[in-house]
Amino acid sequence: TEDSRIKRIASSIRVIPDWPKPGVMFQDITTLLLDPQAFKDSIDLFVERYKDKGVTVVAGVEARGFIFGPPIALAIGAKFVPMRKPNKLPGEVISEEYSLEYGTDVMEMHVGAVQPGDRVLVIDDLIATGGTLCAAIRLLERVGAEVVESACVIELPELKGRERLGDRPLFVLIKAK
Ligand code: AMP
Repeated sequence: TEDSRIKRIASSIRVIPDWPKPGVMFQDITTLLLDPQAFKDSIDLFVERYKDKGVTVVAGVEARGFIFGPPIALAIGAKFVPMRKPNKLPGEVISEEYSLEYGTDVMEMHVGAVQPGDRVLVIDDLIATGGTLCAAIRLLERVGAEVVESACVIELPELKGRERLGDRPLFVLIKAK
């Protein structure tokens, strides 16, 4: 059942307190990857949701969106587009700055990878404050794409990322503390 799959996924994720700094409960999905059934179930749940939604592009956010995005893209017959940290992509890029707890960061995407009218699913492993997903969505909307939905394995509801996304839809498998 869906419920038993979600339970297995939730219990396969390791939580490491105070990493990378005090106060952070790091949700480590590398242990999910060590459970092939849990990994497959997580991909299947996304594929079941998106296979008939006309998604033309799955955009994965560096780095863990690169783990979950490609198997979903292959299964639904969509392109995969990486959204990367600065100075990683070799071609011409479009960039978007976004704020972090301390300072700012930049996300980049290849020009031409996503076309006006593309229907995009944005994938990352986790939403905390929502700053990362918001930057990804802004970048995609700037090139004329329609962002169908954002999807993550884990949401940390206390950080209110969902509110930051406003009326843009967000789908998650698990809500964690
Ligand atoms: P945010 O932009 O605040 O929503 O943060 C989301 C990004 O930071 C994602 O790419 C996550 O992989 C990473 N991240 C933030 N908080 C955590 C956490 N507690 N455990 C694991 N990854 C996190």
